[in-house]
Amino acid sequence: MTKFEELGLSQPLLDAVKDMGFETPSEVQEKAIPLLLESEIDLVALAQTGTGKTAAFGFPLIQKLDSASRTTQGLILSPTRELCLQITNEIQAYSKYVKGLNTVAIYGGASITDQARQIKRGAQIVVATPGRMKDMISRGLVDITKIDYCILDEADEMLNMGFFEDIKDILSNTPKDKSTWLFSATMPREVATIAKKFMNNPTEITVGAKNAGTSTVQHEYYVVGGRDRYPALKRLADANPDIFSVVFCRTKRDTQRVAEKLIEDGYSAGALHGDLSQNQRDLVMNSFRKKQIQMLVATDVAARGIDVDDITHVINYQLPDEIETYTHRSGRTGRAGKSGISMVIITRSEMRKINAMEKKIQQAFLSKKIPTGIEICEIQLYHLANKIKDTKINKDVENYLPAINDVLEGIDRDELIKKIVSVEFTRFSNYYNKTKDISSSDDRGRDRERGDRDRGENAPSNGSVRYFINVGEKDGYDWMSLKDFLRDTLSLGKDDVYKVDTKDSFSFFNTEAEHTEQILSFFTDFKLEGRFINVEVSKNPGGSGGGNRGRSGGGRGRSDRDSSDRGGRSRSRDNNRSSSRGKSSHSGKRRSGSSSSKSRSDFF
Ligand code: ADP
Ligand code: MG
Repeated sequence: MTKFEELGLSQPLLDAVKDMGFETPSEVQEKAIPLLLESEIDLVALAQTGTGKTAAFGFPLIQKLDSASRTTQGLILSPTRELCLQITNEIQAYSKYVKGLNTVAIYGGASITDQARQIKRGAQIVVATPGRMKDMISRGLVDITKIDYCILDEADEMLNMGFFEDIKDILSNTPKDKSTWLFSATMPREVATIAKKFMNNPTEITVGAKNAGTSTVQHEYYVVGGRDRYPALKRLADANPDIFSVVFCRTKRDTQRVAEKLIEDGYSAGALHGDLSQNQRDLVMNSFRKKQIQMLVATDVAARGIDVDDITHVINYQLPDEIETYTHRSGRTGRAGKSGISMVIITRSEMRKINAMEKKIQQAFLSKKIPTGIEICEIQLYHLANKIKDTKINKDVENYLPAINDVLEGIDRDELIKKIVSVEFTRFSNYYNKTKDISSSDDRGRDRERGDRDRGENAPSNGSVRYFINVGEKDGYDWMSLKDFLRDTLSLGKDDVYKVDTKDSFSFFNTEAEHTEQILSFFTDFKLEGRFINVEVSKNPGGSGGGNRGRSGGGRGRSDRDSSDRGGRSRSRDNNRSSSRGKSSHSGKRRSGSSSSKSRSDFF
């Protein structure tokens, strides 16, 4: 086993390693550290979360910098404030015996003047979120024109959150001859694009699950209850507005049934199976090739001849009987040098099949959760924003502008944007506000922990108010850090915020009623990382009242969502669905396959 002493690290760093209590380097550290110390290369490193990536780039970075110079030499970009702070803390701990080395964190939601002041004192390493970084560059508060190293940490997450343009802008302010190191848990197409565009012949290292090399397919599984298969499928489609996919079912009957249901629900779908005439099959395949059909529901036998290159997703609505067949299915995507995703909708009792399939494909599956209604709404919202951005202006509009301007007079830009987006978005959010989220946890321990925590806290008194906030674990918060964030941002006392319950992309918390007015008015216009933070009063007073006891953690979130007052009630769900789907399937027709993954990286 390799030791830290063999990696080429200097004594001050080895001393820090000892203090940190690290015994042996992790695999990504073992591979990356010597490489980065020895040579000036660009690097793409793929490794799962929790594998010690921070040290893998942190140690070489610290060792290679000139701590005697106060110039900013290393820039680390990271997706969230929380990660930014974590990295900063780690780097500070690693460099504690390196004299004169300063690491400063730059992130939104905190005073920019304070951060500028810290930078001015001299920071060889700057750790930043893209939004705030861009802001500080444009105000001339930070100088990254002389950096030698740029690290893109959690690159896949940054792109997921729509930071592509920001990253591009930031990189354009950096010297050409720097080294760029990209760290990511996964290698979706967008990350590959970054590597290609902004990096110079990068060396690639992969740790654990092989997700590179010949295979360009990412395998994911989603655990759902047996009855939730169909709603889960819909959600996966909704969460990928530009999806172009083959959905595999086991029997002809299921294939026909799922396709019919999808069509009924307003998706552009078609069925392909052996009970159709040759003529019917040709028609379906032609529509699919022309991308008039976004979701082709097929049996294994019928799908054998599919020779379409741009398929973004393969969805295993049901698993095949033979494991071998899974390889054929997933091979329908990730063709012609493109990347693809193979999703498996699975029940808990089928879980052991995942292991067998992993062995077969020699690649690990990622455990994923069916997107929540909120997440889907968010994705659809960005999709819509993108569509607005890409829309060509119709010249005839000019004639009506004076009249339109009269009507819209007095509405400022931010408000106008909110209104425009709401015109279409409300329909979508109405549907999901009335729909229960699908419990898909295969991580029971975590839910149990949450339940315990909730029971441990004091029940809120009568004057307690429960709030909904649109940030959650996806933004890097857990209940403790969100509590800290709320208390700090709102200048509240130590115990004023309680019953903080973080979900994936949103959270709930309580305060006494006396704070409500202040909180709501504070958050009417509050932006974090360029995004509006929305806080609303939830109708459920929430939390640890008797009604929640004994229920699972997963169920609690749902009861909160259902009784919150965010949902519209008047529209019929099918109307909503077909109208919004009708639009996206239309866009599916127009878009070419290669651009169909664009919206994922291009959200903002
Ligand atoms: P990643 O960025 O890959 O998600 P981190 O760099 O955040 O992972 O590391 C996860 C945790 O593991 C941190 O608490 C870090 O201090 C710790 N860690 C990193 N390297 C080692 C090591 N070689 N031995 C033990 N713990 C380590
Ligand atoms: Mg990390």
